[in-house]
Amino acid sequence: MKITNCIITSIAALAMVIVSCKKDADSSGTTTTPTTPTTVTVPAVYSKIYGATSITSDGTYITIKTTGTPDYKSVYYPTANTLYEDFSGTTFGGTTFKKNPNSIATQNYTFKIPVNPAVASNHAATPLGAMGVSLNGVPFYNQYAGPNQPLTNEIMSFDKYWGHPTATSQYHYHVEPLYLTTVKSTKSALLGFLLDGFPVYGPEENGAAVTGLDAYHGHTSVTADYPNGIYHYHVTNTDPYINGNGYYGTPGTVTQ
Ligand SMILES: [Zn+2]
Ligand SMILES: [Zn+2]
Repeated sequence: MKITNCIITSIAALAMVIVSCKKDADSSGTTTTPTTPTTVTVPAVYSKIYGATSITSDGTYITIKTTGTPDYKSVYYPTANTLYEDFSGTTFGGTTFKKNPNSIATQNYTFKIPVNPAVASNHAATPLGAMGVSLNGVPFYNQYAGPNQPLTNEIMSFDKYWGHPTATSQYHYHVEPLYLTTVKSTKSALLGFLLDGFPVYGPEENGAAVTGLDAYHGHTSVTADYPNGIYHYHVTNTDPYINGNGYYGTPGTVTQ
């Protein structure tokens, strides 16, 4: 005869529900129940926008806030600013530099760009004003000085690193952001994003000047940041410089 002693241990699991109630700082006597923040991971590539004051995502859009001021010395900073530096000589395209009457001031940009950029069925024209954001937080502008006006008379006012400010003190790039392609990185590097979420690269690819761009000034291929391939724009040193006939994808928004 076999005797089996069975010991049944019953463990009552204690489920602890922790309710955190915070008393408001004021004397209203009301309490607030903390809500769990919606945490959406921002893809690593956006951390390359080193000039942003904040980068967040709601899963649909990446929200990038910047002051739009260059992180280098410019003849367009007010002379009292430590980043002011005189400049003369030649600028973009060998043009003799001629300063415009404007100066740089801090802005308050909020760029919202789609986290999953997609080709648009009709390609919206880029606006005058910010059409994208570069890695140092300075906005990209298109190839026009005004409605259908070429940059002819603006190029002379591009500073040492090929940016300049508007009459409302908004510093911007119409062409290659030379500080990013020569000091911070290389001619083939990621430089920023247009509002449609598609990335912008320098004038070179695989060590050679890029060729074969489409009407929007881009093409689809693998890049260092997108090993699975993506549509991307390239800056070139000839008109239209950054973007061609409008956004390849559906643009997000920019407020300032
Ligand atoms: Zn301009
Ligand atoms: Zn490319």
